[in-house]
Amino acid sequence: MPIWQELSWPRIKECAEKGCVVIIPIGVIEQHGHHLPLDTDAFFAQEMARAAARRDPEILVGPTVPFGFTPSNKNFPGSISLTAGTWSALIREIVRSVHRHGFTRIALFNGHGGQVALSRATVSALQDEEGIRIVVLNWFGLVNDDMDRLFPDENMPGGRVGHAGAVETSINQFLRGELAAQGSLETHLGPQMPDFVRRVGGYVQTPREDLSPSGVMGDSTLATPEKGGELFELCVERLCEFAREYREAE
Ligand SMILES: [Zn+2]
Repeated sequence: MPIWQELSWPRIKECAEKGCVVIIPIGVIEQHGHHLPLDTDAFFAQEMARAAARRDPEILVGPTVPFGFTPSNKNFPGSISLTAGTWSALIREIVRSVHRHGFTRIALFNGHGGQVALSRATVSALQDEEGIRIVVLNWFGLVNDDMDRLFPDENMPGGRVGHAGAVETSINQFLRGELAAQGSLETHLGPQMPDFVRRVGGYVQTPREDLSPSGVMGDSTLATPEKGGELFELCVERLCEFAREYREAE
């Protein structure tokens, strides 16, 4: 399982010559309810990428970027939020370095719903301004339908994965049960933004504490480690498939 920071430079050079796909896990340190660890988003992306690399030696897992952009959760104790410009610059400089060493197949593998739009804008700017064309994908994008299938009773208006709800609690229970039980399992199925905005497909930034006192969006009581394991396995399989197709693409 090649992990970037564990290799010597000649081995990095070999990986570049072989045409390895570099998968860089990106996440955030932010509140995840009363019960889950703050690094959930970064940890999931990292563990999925490492599991994929255990199966496919031509995947090289980049250093995990734990710091993210989370204005909506920044007031909860423990959350660490970079400003949009800082985050975008950080990602661009990391990608620029990876690219400099001869890698042309680079993917950001994101675990944080709150930086989907910003990561896409960052990837577009890299292409537009520096001619570096990379992919960004989200682990939850790999299992959209499966989340519905496994948790049909968790009806959330807006984003499917929620926040510290059934999905993230289940995967944490599967990966690290003891850290997934730090406090009460909460349920909050209210809207993620005012109705008049949601109805027109608009967006407005809303502090999470105004919506959900625990910070949870979803129903964490529906979680099971078995369902978490199934989602994790599907993500790893599909990430491997993606990496293979990326390597073969023009
Ligand atoms: Zn999360």
